[in-house]
Amino acid sequence: MQKTGLYWLGNDLRRHDNHCLAQASKTVEHLLVVYCIEPQWFTAGRYQQVRMGQHRRQFLAQSLKQLKQQLESEGQQLLIFAGDPLTVLPKLIKQYKVEHVFRSLHPAFDEQQQWQWLLDNSDQLSSGQTLQWHELDNLSLINQHDISKLTNIDIAHRQANLAPQEFIPSFSKFRRFVETAIKKQHFIIDEPLTDQYTLPKPVALSPSNYTQLAEHWVSDIDDALELHATDNGQTNKGIFYGGEQSALEHLNHYFSDQRAHQYKSVRNALSGWENSTKFSAWLADGCLSARQVIAALHQFERQHERSDSSYWIFFELLWREYFYWYALIYQQRLFRFSGIDNRRPLSSFYPDRFKCWTDANTPYPLVNACMTQLNKTGYMSNRGRQIVASCFVNELQLDWRYGAAYFETQLIDYDPAANWGNWQYLAGVGADPRSKDPKSIHADGRHFDLTKQQQRFDPKGEFIQHWLGSDASIHTSESIIDHIDANGWPIK
Ligand SMILES: Cc1cc2nc3c(=O)[nH]c(=O)nc-3n(C[C@H](O)[C@H](O)[C@H](O)COP(=O)(O)OP(=O)(O)OC[C@H]3O[C@@H](n4cnc5c(N)ncnc54)[C@H](O)[C@@H]3O)c2cc1C
Repeated sequence: MQKTGLYWLGNDLRRHDNHCLAQASKTVEHLLVVYCIEPQWFTAGRYQQVRMGQHRRQFLAQSLKQLKQQLESEGQQLLIFAGDPLTVLPKLIKQYKVEHVFRSLHPAFDEQQQWQWLLDNSDQLSSGQTLQWHELDNLSLINQHDISKLTNIDIAHRQANLAPQEFIPSFSKFRRFVETAIKKQHFIIDEPLTDQYTLPKPVALSPSNYTQLAEHWVSDIDDALELHATDNGQTNKGIFYGGEQSALEHLNHYFSDQRAHQYKSVRNALSGWENSTKFSAWLADGCLSARQVIAALHQFERQHERSDSSYWIFFELLWREYFYWYALIYQQRLFRFSGIDNRRPLSSFYPDRFKCWTDANTPYPLVNACMTQLNKTGYMSNRGRQIVASCFVNELQLDWRYGAAYFETQLIDYDPAANWGNWQYLAGVGADPRSKDPKSIHADGRHFDLTKQQQRFDPKGEFIQHWLGSDASIHTSESIIDHIDANGWPIK
C-alpha cells in the first residue's frame, strides 16, 4: 500500500533546503502539505494586543502565495486552513490514514505544546495504521545532535523545567563553545540541501470532496488573514517582500557587492536599507534558512576574502541560534515576568505610559522616531529596538512583557525566541550574566542613556526629523512622562 504523509508547515515557508520535504520524499508516496492560519493570532491575548498586526500578515500572505506557486509548479498543492491546527490536523490524519507527520522543530512553548498534544493523542489519531512523528532540524544552524554535545543536554529527551545553570548561561560562552567546536572540527555547520529529488504526489483535496473541513478551507489568503491593505504584487529592492523567491533574490543581492566588508561598522545605524543584512523577516517565516545564509557568506568570503566584518554576520546569527535553543530549553520561562532566574523586576503596568510609548508620544524624540518607524513599516534597527526597550523598562518602568507583546504584533520579523529572549536580556531577567551581579551597572538590565544615544546615532537629528517631521520640535525631553496622576486625573 502506498504511504501517505502530512507536512505541517510553520516558520519554514520554503521549498529549498527543507529537511521536512526531503525526508517526506524518501518516506511517503503521497503528501498533504498543510498550513493553518490560527484564529488566536487575530484576537487580543493576555497583553491586550492582537498577536499579529497588519505588517506581519502582509508579509505572511506574500510568503504563502510564493510557496503555493512554487509547489504547484512541481505538481504539489499547498493546503491552507483557517482554524486551530489541533482541530484541523486530526481530521486530516484520520481521513487520509496518514502514517507519517513531518514538522520542523519549533522551539517556543505554544508550538511545543501543540506538537506534544499530537504525540500524546497519537493512538486516537492513528485509526489502525502506524503513525510516525518526525520533528526535524530545519530552522536552526546547528542540529540537535551537535547542540546536545555542546551543552551536555540530551535535546531529544530533554526534561521540562531544566535549571538555568544547566543550559549555557551566557551568549559569550555559547559563542566560544561553538567557535572552538568548529575549529576542532567537532562539528561543522551543515551545508544546505541540494534539492535533487521529486516531491511526493499530492492528495487530491478540495472543499467539495472533504466537507468536514469545508468551513476551514481557505481559498483567498488575503481574506483569511484579514488584510486591509492591497498588495500590488511588486517586489521592490529596499523593502521587505515575503516569500522564498524574494528572499533568495535579496540574499544574492546582499552578497553581490562589498557590503559585507562594511557590515560591522554600519550595522548599528538607525536607518538605511543597506546597513544591516535585513535577512531577519525571511528567516522568521523560514523563507530563507540560516544554513543558506551561512553558505552564501562562505561563498562571498571565498571570492572576496574573509574580514572581521564579514565574520560578524556569522556572529549575529549565533545570537539567533543562542535564543533558539534558549527558547527550547526554558519554555514558559521565556515569557515569565521574573524570567529564567526568578528575579522580579521593579516595574509595573501603567496604561497611560504604555500608550504614550506605542503611540510614539513619549518625552523622548529618539524613542518616538523609532516607534513611528516601527508602526509605519513593521521594522526597526537593532539599535532602535535596544533604545526603545531600554526606555520602556527604565524611564517608563513598565512591565517588559507588554513591550515584547507589542513587538510581537508589529515586527515583520517577529520570532518568538529572538524577541522574548532579547527583551528578557534588556529587562535584566534573561541571559545577561552582568545583570545577575548586584555590583554591576547592568544589575537591573541594560540601561541606555537616551541623550548619549541620540548624540551618537543621530547627531544631526536627521533620523528624528525623517520620522517625526514637523512634530519633531514638540517632543522634548522636558515633557512629562505621565498625563494622569495616581487617581486618574489629567495632569495639566
Ligand atoms: C528588544 C529586541 C527585540 C528583538 N526582536 C527580534 C525578533 O522578533 N526577530 C528577530 O529576528 N530579531 C529580533 N531582534 C534582534 C535584532 O534586532 C534583529 O534580528 C535585527 O535588527 C534584524 O535586522 P537585520 O536582519 O538587518 O540584522 P543583522 O544585523 O543584519 O543581523 C543578521 C541576522 O542575525 C540575527 N540577529 C542579529 N541580532 C540579533 C539578536 N540580538 N538576537 C537574535 N538574532 C539576531 C538575525 O537573524 C539577523 O537577521 C530583537 C532585538 C531586540 C533588542
